[in-house]
Amino acid sequence: MLMISKASSAMASLPCSRMRSGLCVWPGMRQLCLRKGLLYGFMRLFSTPLKTLRGASRSLKVAQFCSVVNMSSSLQIELVPCLSDNYAYLLHDVDTGTVGVVDPSEALPVIDVLTKKNRNLTYILNTHHHHDHTGGNVELKARYGAKVIGSGLDRERIPGIDIVLNDGDKWMFAGHEVHVIDTPGHTRGHISFYFPGSGAIFTGDTLFSLSCGKLFEGTPEQMLCSLRKIMSLPDVTNIYCGHEYTLSNSKFALSIEPENRALQSYAAHVSHLRSKGLPTIPTTLKLEKACNPFLRTSSTEIRRTLNIPVTADDAEALGVIRQAKDNF
Ligand SMILES: [Zn+2]
Repeated sequence: MLMISKASSAMASLPCSRMRSGLCVWPGMRQLCLRKGLLYGFMRLFSTPLKTLRGASRSLKVAQFCSVVNMSSSLQIELVPCLSDNYAYLLHDVDTGTVGVVDPSEALPVIDVLTKKNRNLTYILNTHHHHDHTGGNVELKARYGAKVIGSGLDRERIPGIDIVLNDGDKWMFAGHEVHVIDTPGHTRGHISFYFPGSGAIFTGDTLFSLSCGKLFEGTPEQMLCSLRKIMSLPDVTNIYCGHEYTLSNSKFALSIEPENRALQSYAAHVSHLRSKGLPTIPTTLKLEKACNPFLRTSSTEIRRTLNIPVTADDAEALGVIRQAKDNF
């Protein structure tokens, strides 16, 4: 379980510390250590047992999660493995008890967690209409009376949609400001939910760790524009994407940029995490900028490997990288 402050993305890592060589998974850690209330934070930290995730025996084999707490924690984000490799995310505002879920692929794993914690569900947030992100909408809405939130462009395709949001809208989740960012490319109505106070963004199938979504309804230009919007956020932003694809993505990334040391290091860490059944999510924007080939379209090494001319612009390069990934 992750607990994130409304006011800051500062975090601390716990016993299963996820330090990478040269890169810290929880970049706000140093900040955190300087913050007042440190004692309270550590009391909370050691009084919070590591959670064994419901659904641990599912195909993701997510056995255990690092607990991450902040002193003034008020928003918890919890990964809920769904289907074979999807993540839904439970959002829990500790102050009000309000609960939301991002991209429930299916209802049952979400119901399991809510039942276990005796919680209700108020909101269902969808990044896009694909069934593996909305498959639980109708059942969850019927059971809890939750409101379904999605893009106005997908009002005809998101099951049970109640609240329509558009690019630039600011919506409030229990006192947490949520910025709606249009991120088309994978689908034309894809949006991302950015929680600036928590330093978290839910990117659905736009940005994965070490990859981006397939271009089903968009062009390389659109995807590049979407990725640049995400890249303009602070480097410490935690990225919560729709799938646990990181290990296979790392193999492709290494194949086209084998000399990238940050990537080598991250790929080794990802392999280690997955071998232990641990999630690689959230990732951080800083890490992705250093390692994700779709954020590195100007990399000389990538261009050389894929024979992308120096004169090609970043959108053309992204198109070639995407095609190579599709055929990998
Ligand atoms: Zn999708």
